[in-house]
Amino acid sequence: MTTQDGKVHDARELLSTRSDSIRAANKRKVLRAVMIQPSTQVQIAKRTHLSQGTVSGVVQELEAERVFRVDGGDGERGKRVSIGSVRGVAAGVEVGHDRLTVAVRRVDSEDTLHRVVNFGVTQGLDTWRRECAQMIKDLVADTGLGTEHLVSIGLGIPAAIDPRSGEISQVAASLDWDLQGSPPRWFARDFPNVPVIPDNECNFAAYGEHVYGHGRDRETLLFVKSSAGIGAGFLIGGNIIRGRHGLAGEIGHLTMDPRGDFCRCGSRGCLETLVGGTRLVEQVRRAYAGYHRDLPSSLENLIERAKGNDNVCRNVVRVAADNIGLALARVSNIINPDLIVIGGELGRAGDLVIGPASETLRRNALEGMFAHSEPTEIKQSDLGMLAGPRGALAFALNVDHQPS
Ligand SMILES: [Zn+2]
Repeated sequence: MTTQDGKVHDARELLSTRSDSIRAANKRKVLRAVMIQPSTQVQIAKRTHLSQGTVSGVVQELEAERVFRVDGGDGERGKRVSIGSVRGVAAGVEVGHDRLTVAVRRVDSEDTLHRVVNFGVTQGLDTWRRECAQMIKDLVADTGLGTEHLVSIGLGIPAAIDPRSGEISQVAASLDWDLQGSPPRWFARDFPNVPVIPDNECNFAAYGEHVYGHGRDRETLLFVKSSAGIGAGFLIGGNIIRGRHGLAGEIGHLTMDPRGDFCRCGSRGCLETLVGGTRLVEQVRRAYAGYHRDLPSSLENLIERAKGNDNVCRNVVRVAADNIGLALARVSNIINPDLIVIGGELGRAGDLVIGPASETLRRNALEGMFAHSEPTEIKQSDLGMLAGPRGALAFALNVDHQPS
């Protein structure tokens, strides 16, 4: 297919060349990198681990076919490579406790469309899956394309996925959640032949921060999602660290006090029993019981009040931040991250959380992390609630999924 006669390339076709020659594989790699993000050739080489020469060859070839557009910048290497006449669209999903977020982007555009609805795993697999499929269809239609152009779906779920089998190894949260079967096949009926790439939602959020947020060019990145529950994902050299069973990064179940409250995981005194959103709301309600009629109904609401002049809410957030800082100090002494990003609802509290968490981290982690020209630091998520869906979208686009 060429565009000389006005025809447009099909992204799915370009990516599904059955040839497994190194040349074809490199071509797909470069194409995927540019679909994730328009970049200079130097950046593409860095991200794909291909040589400058290989990247330059592929770029020239695909520019001639008008798959790529090359413009701006100083000299060959500084020019920006973006997607040209190609039809394709990708989706990223984050399923939470009671929130479902879908992001969709055309591969030839940097504008991500997204939609959020207030239900998730607590409503049951069939319900949220049906809603999710409809949201993907609607958003794809909003981009001006049809689902026949859907390249891949990244699916972030609150569960641990066995990295070897792609099956669920543990539902990371409440035991009555119905997350059954094989996630890669959950959308087989709605989107036949579209690869669905599942992973833990915090892993995808970490990946999103690495590609589009504060984590760019950072070697070791820890992303902490602090919402109803608390989880984390981490990357070293751009690779998601999952561990053998996909359970790496379960910071919420780090024991902070072996004699503390029981946790839903069965253990005692986990970080989540101290800073989980539901627990924080409970703490405020207890403090005001009998005195205040207008009590916070959600973590979001609690944070709004903390930013205002509600002393109880502000102190509850401060103590939570302090506990998060202590947990981060323990994790940092093991993985020594260059950047820690805090996302989720609590991340949106900004300095109310980042300030005390940073102080506690500094007090409790090894000094060498801070007595350095590039010290370990904590930042608020750059992408907010879209870190997960955007990360899922990018990660799935990057998987070289060849039809069998
Ligand atoms: Zn626990």
